[in-house]
Amino acid sequence: MGLLRKIRDTGQVAEPAPPRPEGGVPPQAREFGGSVQVRCVDAGSCNGCEIEIAAAFNPVYDAERYGARLVASPRHADVALVTGPVTRNMAEPLRRTVAAMPEPRLVVAVGDCAINCGEFAGGYGVEGAVSDVVPVDLAVPGCPPRPDEIVAALRRVTGR
Ligand code: SF4
Repeated sequence: MGLLRKIRDTGQVAEPAPPRPEGGVPPQAREFGGSVQVRCVDAGSCNGCEIEIAAAFNPVYDAERYGARLVASPRHADVALVTGPVTRNMAEPLRRTVAAMPEPRLVVAVGDCAINCGEFAGGYGVEGAVSDVVPVDLAVPGCPPRPDEIVAALRRVTGR
């Protein structure tokens, strides 16, 4: 009963929708029809970026209201959100994951490590940035990027 009362008494927690983000829309995004299925790939991150991605889909930032939905399989995904520098062990799994996604598909590098290896540049176990392993269409800088920045990148893809 306490839980039901709490649900009843809690008002809307979602942040008001900010204005549409600026920036070009990748050409493939026009074929997605305003909604995308999103697969996350941790290629070697410290998990800071994962926490922010999880927050981007929580009730406060609510990326789903703009047409982005998390899925468990790359076979169902239009977009891959890739975090971390790509470790040697994750280079081939990342290539295979992206190859398993149907076309058109889009790869978003999330966080400084994904973009340029960040703190881990030069590390013995690091293969390289995400763009050294698979083609990257969009980048979200930051260490880690804020949830609203991740949502803004997804809105550029869905156009909503
Ligand atoms: S960008 Fe920062 S938070 Fe994200 S994986 Fe790298 S060190 Fe961690």
